[in-house]
Amino acid sequence: ENLCNKIAAGEVVERPASVVKELLENSIDAGARDITIEIEKGGKKLIRLVDDGCGMDRDDIFLCLERHATSKISSADDLFKLQTLGFRGEALPSIAAVSRMVLRSRPPQCEAGMELLLDGGEVKRADVCGMAPGTSVEVRDLFSRLPARRKFLRRDETELAHIGEVVTRTALAHPDIQFRLLHNGRALIDVRRAEGLRARVANLLGRHLASDLVEIDAAGPDCRIHGLISPPQTNRATSGTIYTFVNGRYIRDRVVQHAVLDGYRTLLPKGRYPVVVLFLELDPELVDVNVHPTKHEVRFRQQSQVHDFIVAGLADALRESSW
Ligand code: ADP
Ligand code: MG
Repeated sequence: ENLCNKIAAGEVVERPASVVKELLENSIDAGARDITIEIEKGGKKLIRLVDDGCGMDRDDIFLCLERHATSKISSADDLFKLQTLGFRGEALPSIAAVSRMVLRSRPPQCEAGMELLLDGGEVKRADVCGMAPGTSVEVRDLFSRLPARRKFLRRDETELAHIGEVVTRTALAHPDIQFRLLHNGRALIDVRRAEGLRARVANLLGRHLASDLVEIDAAGPDCRIHGLISPPQTNRATSGTIYTFVNGRYIRDRVVQHAVLDGYRTLLPKGRYPVVVLFLELDPELVDVNVHPTKHEVRFRQQSQVHDFIVAGLADALRESSW
C-alpha cells in the first residue's frame, strides 16, 4: 500500500509546484471561494493551503488518504465525462507519502474540525480541532526522506517561480475565486474574488495591460472561444505570455499555440509577442485530457477544425480592435 503511494508520488509529485497544483484543484473542486497558499523556502520546507470549501467530515478525512478514494467518480463511465479537475484519487496519499502532512478539515455543518498528523503517509495522531469551515493542508519537508528526489529540486527561487506559475494559471481560470500566495510571509499574488477577467489579467500579468486588452468571443457548432488578447508587447517581461485553457483546464498544446500565433500572423513584428488568455470550450467527447496526470497535454479529435476555429476567432477580434 505504502509502496504504491511512493510509486504514484513519482507520477504526481515532481516538485513543490505539483503539490500546489493538486491542492488547488482539490480546493476548487470543493467549491472554495477563498484560497490562501503559504510557502517557505520555495515549498521545500512548507506548503500550506487553506480554503473555505465544503470540507470533509470525520469519515471522509480518513478515507481521502486511501488510494483511489476519490469522491469524484462513482463508475468507470464517469471517467469519460470528467467535470471536476481531480479524478484519480491519488494526489493526497501520494503527497502524504513523501512529506510530513497536517490535514485539517471541517464541513460548515459540523461544529468542529478534525486534524490528522501524518508522517510518510502514516497517521500518527488524529484529534478534534477548532477551525473555520473548510480545509487546510500543510505539507512539510517534501522529499526529506528521499534524498534522490530532493536532489532534483532547484533553488528556492526557481521552485517558487514554478509555484507562482501554477497559481497564476489557476487564478486566471477562476476569476470568481480569491487567491493569495505568500512566500516567507510576503504576498506575491493577491487577487480578489469576482474582480472579473480583465482586472484579473491585469493584476496577474501587468497593470499596463488593463486598457489594451481586447475581448474575444466566438462560438461555432461544437466549440466556443473567449478571453482577452493584447497587441504585440514591447515590454519584454510580458512578451509571449500565452495562456490557453481547455474546458477550464490549463493546457500547453502545440496545435493551440500555433493557432494563436497564426491568428496574429500579419500583426507580429519580429520578436514581439502578445499576451493572450484564451478559453476554449468544447464537447468533452471531442477532447482527451487524460493523457498524463501532470503534463498539460490534450488530444483533440478534430485538430485542424480546432486550429482553424481559433485562427478565425482571433483574426475577427484583431480586425475589430483599433491597435
Ligand atoms: P481526487 O481529487 O482525484 O478525488 P485527491 O487525492 O486529490 O483525489 O483527493 C481525495 C479526496 O479528498 C477528494 O475526492 C475529496 O473528496 C477530498 N478532498 C481533498 N481535498 C479536499 C478539500 N480541499 N476540500 C474538501 N475535500 C477534499
Ligand atoms: Mg485531487
